[in-house]
Amino acid sequence: MDNVMKIEFSALAENEAFARAVAASFVMPLDPTVEELTEIKTAVSEAVSNCIIHGYKDWGNRQNARVFMECSMLKGGKVVIKVRDEGSGIEDIKKAMEPLFTTGSEEERSGMGFTVMESFMDKLVVESEKGKGTTVIMTKYLDIISVE
Ligand code: ATP
Ligand code: MG
Repeated sequence: MDNVMKIEFSALAENEAFARAVAASFVMPLDPTVEELTEIKTAVSEAVSNCIIHGYKDWGNRQNARVFMECSMLKGGKVVIKVRDEGSGIEDIKKAMEPLFTTGSEEERSGMGFTVMESFMDKLVVESEKGKGTTVIMTKYLDIISVE
């Protein structure tokens, strides 16, 4: 049977570690390898930090700025993780996904977040609307031994 989970939290920097720990705990029943777990945690961190740093960049009160995360474990070890914000949105998604592209400051950002998500997960879909927010949908197939 599918196993699903959904959380909502304030767009505060400290919640990046919270979100990655939640995603990691959720997939534990699939008995992921250390490598798979690290990849999921890193991808979630990148997605969540993008919501916090870019999505809500010009937001007034951060307490009202929310990040949403939804995880599903489907048949055959398929894990789907959706991370969403209701912030500024992305003007040009294709350009934003190019390696090294960043609208952040050069000292702080490397423009590699989407590239990391893409290489650590099996599939990455980015949906965004200017002024409405951004959703990233990441899929990973875990190398599971048995399927219930
Ligand atoms: P890094 O992740 O290496 O610190 P970065 O965040 O700039 O740098 P990416 O994560 O690849 O690099 O994102 C590229 C660009 O896409 C960002 O600079 C930003 O302009 C835009 N972007 C990404 N996520 C969002 C989001 N949730 N809301 C608005 N813009 C976003
Ligand atoms: Mg980033």
